[in-house]
Amino acid sequence: MVEMFQKMGGTSSRIALTEYLVALLKQTPPEIIDKVTYLIQGKLYPDYEGIEIGVAEKMIVRAIASSSGKDGAEIERIYQKTGDLGDACAEAMKSKNQSTLFSEPMTVERVYNTFDRVARTTGPGSQEIKLRFISSLLNDATPEQSRYIVKFVMGQLRLGIADYTVLDSLALAFTGDKGNRKVLESAYNVSSDLGTIAKLMATKGLRAVRSLKVKLFRPIRPMLAERVTTAEEALDRMEGKAGVEYKLDGERVQVHKGKNGVELFSRRLEKITGHYPDVVKAMGSIRSEVIMEGEVVAINPETEEYLPFQELMHRRRKHGVEEAMENYPVVMNFFDVLYLDGKSKMQLQYSDRRKLLKKIVDSVKKNDIVRLINQAAVKEPQEIDRFMASAIENGCEGVMIKQLTSTYRAGAREYAWVKLKREYRSELADTLDLVIVGALHGRGRRAGKYGALLLAAYSPKDDMFQSATKVGTGFTDAHLEKFYEDLRRHIIAQRHARVETGMAMDVWFEPRLVIEVIASEITVSPSHAAAKNAIKLGFGLALRFPKFTGKIRDDKKPEDATTVEELISMYRGQLKTAGVKTADEG
Ligand code: AMP
Repeated sequence: MVEMFQKMGGTSSRIALTEYLVALLKQTPPEIIDKVTYLIQGKLYPDYEGIEIGVAEKMIVRAIASSSGKDGAEIERIYQKTGDLGDACAEAMKSKNQSTLFSEPMTVERVYNTFDRVARTTGPGSQEIKLRFISSLLNDATPEQSRYIVKFVMGQLRLGIADYTVLDSLALAFTGDKGNRKVLESAYNVSSDLGTIAKLMATKGLRAVRSLKVKLFRPIRPMLAERVTTAEEALDRMEGKAGVEYKLDGERVQVHKGKNGVELFSRRLEKITGHYPDVVKAMGSIRSEVIMEGEVVAINPETEEYLPFQELMHRRRKHGVEEAMENYPVVMNFFDVLYLDGKSKMQLQYSDRRKLLKKIVDSVKKNDIVRLINQAAVKEPQEIDRFMASAIENGCEGVMIKQLTSTYRAGAREYAWVKLKREYRSELADTLDLVIVGALHGRGRRAGKYGALLLAAYSPKDDMFQSATKVGTGFTDAHLEKFYEDLRRHIIAQRHARVETGMAMDVWFEPRLVIEVIASEITVSPSHAAAKNAIKLGFGLALRFPKFTGKIRDDKKPEDATTVEELISMYRGQLKTAGVKTADEG
């Protein structure tokens, strides 16, 4: 292996790398081919295991010093000169007297197993133990061997061997035909584990690789989407009918639920179970063994508003997870099921997977976390546009449109799934003054208060208050208290005759109180009535990500609120900033 490392390190040609790798794989005994496959990529396990060797640089310097009989300062000096600790080690070891007495032979197994122990040693005092393991290898190593041992432990092997180079090489080494790489790639897409594939190939052959099964706790490479720019284009790609889903702006998670536990994997197939203990717990009540996919999103639990992606960042941490869980609650919106009780479901059509998914999600013991993603069956571009507008207004970044007959194609980016996003985006500079016309009851911490308020703009032309947004963010406890008290006097039995909206509310008010809000932008909306039909037939205008600024505009009468004409001109201004031409400009 060391010989191969030297050759590989000396070339940057992918063809040459493949040739060397083919030669190495052919020479490798099948029993250890999985280990060799991991080692050449500088790993001990597939990425999803998340196991790192974890040795501090100064510990390696100490190990080199003790094995080479030089002092730490001298090793540091050589390190400064070479710029690479592996090269420094080889240099330092050159002058050492090689003692063959009592030394164990350097085999791949020995080196791998020692690295493995280093990686698995954790907790207090672990650095000292790791040091001893590394020294035990360096004591018996030649200078050339020591170079690569140190590079590996430092995570600096960097031979540039990509996953695809390994797949090509395996195909060539064992079948003589690079064309078979496709078979290997499919196996890789459902297992994400090159070591297992290499071993299967070397011991049982291509047919066994072809029938490699989906397995719990081994992540599947996610299916990806192409991009389209219009609803028409999307439907053309889908033969006229499709499923359309909310495209939430969170983190994609692949959930593996077994008899004795749950693991979560990120889109890059890293283990992220520790970030979302609440999701893990919520999955506990599912009886079956399943692999499901969904988007985890931060949420305001009182108002049910989705929050921007940045909020999720608070959950990416090793410490203080409990606290982050309290402060940044999430919901898990499932959109696919890939495996159920021992069987892959990837061959089922999307429409059938969706039915199955619904059954599974319905079986989850009621909780606030697990949900089915919003979906609708569509045949007309207008239906997609309408769904899209409501998705955007609800804090999504767009929609995903999926072919009803498509299977789950692991690792593939194809037109079976397409994403339709908003083309422009800008921040609203101005605040708006809107009238409170309705409310939803609060939940959780806001129980007994209002959770969200329905706000309207004023339309002078017909003297109406037309709803433009629901706001639940930006309120302190004192505000909530005050609104609850102040609004009580204005409660009416049903929607006020001067209020126009498509929203259902728990409580309606006489339009009296005006408050100030900011928002990220104005979007077209199928459910709000402000400026209805002015921009688009059947649609009004609405605020996206609205937030109460803390200002109650006692100085304004409801008729002094922001007008729908102002909303229209703000909407047009937005388009202009984004360089989109409006209809009247041609
Ligand atoms: P993009 O990252 O823009 O290529 O869009 C694909 C990503 O959208 C996926 O990896 C998911 O994280 C996310 N996503 C959100 N909602 C859905 C959905 N309903 N179906 C599939 N992916 C979704």
